[in-house]
Amino acid sequence: MAATTTTGLEHVLPLGSRLNERGALEVGGCDVTELAREYGTPAYVYAEDDIRARARSYREAFAARTDRFEIVYASKAAPVTAIYALLAEEGLSCDVASGGELHLALAGGFAPERLYMHGNNKTEAELAYAVECGVGTIVVDSFDEVERLRRLAPGQQVMLRVTPGIKPETHEKIATGQEDSKFGFGLDDVPRAVEACESAGLELRGLHAHIGSQIYELSVLERLAEVLGGMGDYPLLNLGGGLGIAYTAEDRPPSVDAYAEALLSRVPDGVTVLCEPGRSLVGNAGITLYTVGTVKRIPRVRTYVAVDGGMSDNLRPMLYAARYEAQIADRFGGSDLCTVAGMHCESGDILIRDAVLDDPRPGDVLMIGATGAYGHAMANNYNAIPRPPVILCRDGHARVAVRRETYDDLTLRDR
Ligand code: PLP
Repeated sequence: MAATTTTGLEHVLPLGSRLNERGALEVGGCDVTELAREYGTPAYVYAEDDIRARARSYREAFAARTDRFEIVYASKAAPVTAIYALLAEEGLSCDVASGGELHLALAGGFAPERLYMHGNNKTEAELAYAVECGVGTIVVDSFDEVERLRRLAPGQQVMLRVTPGIKPETHEKIATGQEDSKFGFGLDDVPRAVEACESAGLELRGLHAHIGSQIYELSVLERLAEVLGGMGDYPLLNLGGGLGIAYTAEDRPPSVDAYAEALLSRVPDGVTVLCEPGRSLVGNAGITLYTVGTVKRIPRVRTYVAVDGGMSDNLRPMLYAARYEAQIADRFGGSDLCTVAGMHCESGDILIRDAVLDDPRPGDVLMIGATGAYGHAMANNYNAIPRPPVILCRDGHARVAVRRETYDDLTLRDR
């Protein structure tokens, strides 16, 4: 019998998560150890209501302050058809950053006019596909792209991506607003880019900037709103995504309400403000389930707890030294300091360096929280490992939104 129904990770795990009478984690009302048994591991498990609640909290926070706003789901965070469908139902717009994301967004039911197409190097084929589908707005990233659009899409509605020279405190690989960036137009180039769009017959709707991800400092976002707001008389300003989330017990990100206040208090009156959250809509909604395979205790060194996934289903620890929390799914707590390792052929395949677990054993289901963003999105087939399924849970019912890859999928493209 579990001593408590609280996880101690309320701000990290999906809303409504709890420990049931067996001491097992429930997400979306589903016992995750039963999910592991039924669907296998590794598996991405999301609480559908968490995603919906976060979408509503964005809409409510903005609606409480203005009626000129649009919340745009940055779908690179979790490009899953069923998640696109949920967020379309919740009244959001959507950012797609490739032809593939565009395809998924349409499959999920987004109306093309609600789509914003991004990318620092959209191919001709992607631009042509966007135009053919009637994508509402293309966010123009370079002079070369203006020329492509002059040929492919006269009259297309566009926004200009601006690199405002603002560097947030975040990992350098996910900072995008600094002058030295592959994205967008530097401030000095904006007047020339505006002219180029006009002469190409494009309909310029406004400016866009995304300065980076996993940002806790609202002051840089306030500065961004001031900089873009001061650049001219544009009816639309898209201030990007970037609001950070809690990955570990200590993390305390700003609320969505404080974020909305930071942006909206700094933009000029009459402007319609767009924001593009990805991580903060879906990151905490998802967890990953693994099965412990081996426990290797190296005296005076460390204890490796190896699981049946790793850098093929979560690249963030390797790319950005991202930190996470793990627990044995039906024995939260404990005091064994462990390193959670993946099963791939690299020493760098470490998911968590210092996890405190309760006597981990082979066969245990281990869960890692806050993997809902950029986990499935960046999954890969390193070591020819089939990619995990995406399972959505709600009110005790689970549905497979994306099935697990099979070995046959791995040879499907062979010729
Ligand atoms: N908008 C753009 C243009 C981005 O490139 C990104 C992330 O890379 C986002 C929005 C979403 O950022 P986040 O997931 O941090 O909210």
